[in-house]
Amino acid sequence: MSVCKHGNLCATPPHMLRQIVQNGNTSQRERAEKTLDSSEQFRGKRVALAEGPFTHAASGAGLHRSVYNANNGSSLPGSMARDEGAAATGDNAVDEAYDGSGETYRLLKDEYGRDSLDGNGMKLKSTTHYQTGYDNAFWNGSQMVYGDGDEDLPEDERFFNRFTISLDIIGHELAHGLTQFTAGLRYVDQSGALNESMSDVFGSLVKQRKLNQTAADADWLIGAELLTSNVNGSAIRSMKAPGTAYDDPVIGKDPQPGHMRDYKDVDYDNGGVHINSGIPNHAFYLIALELGGNAWEKAGKIWFQTLTDASKMNRRSQFTDAAKATWEVAGSLFGTGSLEQQAVKKGWNGVGLEVDGNDNGGGGGGGGNTGCLVAPLVLTRMFT
Ligand SMILES: [Zn+2]
Repeated sequence: MSVCKHGNLCATPPHMLRQIVQNGNTSQRERAEKTLDSSEQFRGKRVALAEGPFTHAASGAGLHRSVYNANNGSSLPGSMARDEGAAATGDNAVDEAYDGSGETYRLLKDEYGRDSLDGNGMKLKSTTHYQTGYDNAFWNGSQMVYGDGDEDLPEDERFFNRFTISLDIIGHELAHGLTQFTAGLRYVDQSGALNESMSDVFGSLVKQRKLNQTAADADWLIGAELLTSNVNGSAIRSMKAPGTAYDDPVIGKDPQPGHMRDYKDVDYDNGGVHINSGIPNHAFYLIALELGGNAWEKAGKIWFQTLTDASKMNRRSQFTDAAKATWEVAGSLFGTGSLEQQAVKKGWNGVGLEVDGNDNGGGGGGGGNTGCLVAPLVLTRMFT
């Protein structure tokens, strides 16, 4: 996700759009510029979004989805297209938004006992067919919004399919709502990369659970269906092998590191929230693989418990804090010194982080208790 107009959190990483501006043809360039412009405005409002307060309509206990159609306009939510319990419409975007919201709800409810994003039965609202040629999807603090990608362009010019096409993207965006209502991780530097990573983790788990895949069988890709065959790439991110999702003359190369030694301290993308998220993403992958079986059962439970426990994770949590917190949670869930707790330690060690608050792989950008402390201190002053 990138930060979009009015502080919304978006699916398409800005580094991808910048590459299209540089390398695309005229229509591709214009489109990417438009999306990028709206992505980079109103940065300050993102902070407001991340910190609330939030108003939303609770629908009472249970699953309640409402999917709307913006009819290519910008008004939200648009006209009702499919309310909870209604039959499939035959409109792919509407039905995918409906089904994907349901799969996300069921992961949270059936596996972790949480009733919707806010824990209080919040209605899951989605708007589809937002604008024309809109290459993004976003969570605006109270609902999901999906563009149709490049589906209006000639096939050989398309980079992106409609944004409802990947279940993990739907789960990713909704998980931003979960984070918003729980740890509230600030969308900047390491806490922002953790925010992004939480969304990739739960987005991938929604998909893996739907496909009934073990950690070993899963592809661990984010947005595998999103890129068209015109792009030399398999997805927008890979949790299994960060930095390898795509390498394309127009879109550029996947910039994600998978280890602290390759941490990228950058002054764009809110300090690289879509870039350095590769590090905690890969830690989660290593842990899930080490534990075996279904990733949502043990690794996912540890992550969920950490994210939703205010004593374990908060707005300012850094990578080392996440490592320590997940290790502690694994100890309380499965026993001190348990195989599960050892797996968590091993996974974080695999990306250059220690569960005792140190990192051993270098990496700047505001390490938690060690490393460069200047950036986070400055930012804390700015945003408090
Ligand atoms: Zn995101």
